[in-house]
Amino acid sequence: MTFKEKKEALINHLVSVGVLKTPIIIEAFMKIPRHLFVRKDYLSCAYEDIPLPTYKGQTISQPYTIAVMTEALEPKPEEKILEIGAGSGYQAALLGYCVVPKGKVITVELEPDLVEFSKKNLKKVNLKNVKIVLGDGKRGYPKESPYDKCMITAACNEIPKPIVEQVKVGGRVVAPVNSLFGQSMIVLDKLSEKKYRKKFLGSFVFVPLR
Ligand code: SAH
Repeated sequence: MTFKEKKEALINHLVSVGVLKTPIIIEAFMKIPRHLFVRKDYLSCAYEDIPLPTYKGQTISQPYTIAVMTEALEPKPEEKILEIGAGSGYQAALLGYCVVPKGKVITVELEPDLVEFSKKNLKKVNLKNVKIVLGDGKRGYPKESPYDKCMITAACNEIPKPIVEQVKVGGRVVAPVNSLFGQSMIVLDKLSEKKYRKKFLGSFVFVPLR
């Protein structure tokens, strides 16, 4: 099978199990090829529904998990979205595609090697609205705040306060938060400066936020 055929089979699978639903997100999965974001030695597994190693013991998440998180975030055109943990750059590229033409994605990565890797990968897709910055995502990225939404792609004990503060009222954070077994996927809606609503989307496994 060609990459294109494997990609379509994976997307059809994610649609048929009901996890991919929104037309623009399905289109993003079609238009942003995952094989451009995985290491050369894992190319043959690019369209398997499994996480794959990037560098420094980190991973590119499983497509199923990426679909759950992207659907939960509900990215809309013109939104400014913060991602924590650029990794391969794949998730940021999907979000960037969803918010074209006026929206923007800023993704913060702690590991210099992965900043380089994600930058190199992102150049392969023609997206001008994704910015990768080196830094500790636990502090968010105040310089570009406020954000409409934020997605954290590493496991945290709780959603870091600076991130909640940098998201607008009416905005949303999607994050895997440590629980007894693995991580609970949390959708936090910021109803006012002090009031939040939390929804749980089930258990997943993530590398830790450091
Ligand atoms: N979203 C990525 C997968 C991320 S895996 C993708 O689409 O490929 C989690 C990433 O978070 C790793 O790359 C790891 O280096 C990074 N990370 C861990 N702790 C961090 C922190 N405090 N700030 C920023 N990035 C962090």
